[in-house]
Amino acid sequence: MSKRSGSQQASTVPSAEKPQSAEKPQSAEKPQSAEKPWYADGLKFKCTQCGNCCTGAPGFVWVKKSEIATLAALLDLDVTAFEREYVRNVGIRKSLREFPNGDCVFFDGQSRRCTVYQARPRQCVTWPFWASNLRSPEAWEETCAACPGSGTGRVYNLDEIETRRKEFRV
Ligand code: SF4
Repeated sequence: MSKRSGSQQASTVPSAEKPQSAEKPQSAEKPQSAEKPWYADGLKFKCTQCGNCCTGAPGFVWVKKSEIATLAALLDLDVTAFEREYVRNVGIRKSLREFPNGDCVFFDGQSRRCTVYQARPRQCVTWPFWASNLRSPEAWEETCAACPGSGTGRVYNLDEIETRRKEFRV
């Protein structure tokens, strides 16, 4: 499995530029459930740098304007030149290009490292704490089976998980 959103998921990912709508106030008749998510005690993750999540089947690494600007600055390119080289349009959205074998354009197959790690997009930063991986213990188990770093290492507490989950919704 790749952390890069597959084509079947593309339409479910909200535009990165689109602000999240403000939460509606809870009515007096319907108090907010005090029920905690199943992962309230935290989840473990430590990147093993296996590269699984940057490679494999074709997919998308969605990037918004500010992320493109940050990546362009890292590579000392202007935004136009950066987009020409590294970005593709997918409908009204933009994704990083990939090599013919499906690897992300910024994945170095020899060192098996991300070459823009310090400026990588939110989609990469928030892995594996995506809503799709957190929707049930079973979904998390599947994530752990595909990603050797998930389920091991340090415990991310609920706040840390929720911050990531809300930052990039997929
Ligand atoms: S930007 Fe870096 S971390 Fe993200 S998919 Fe590409 S190589 Fe992997």
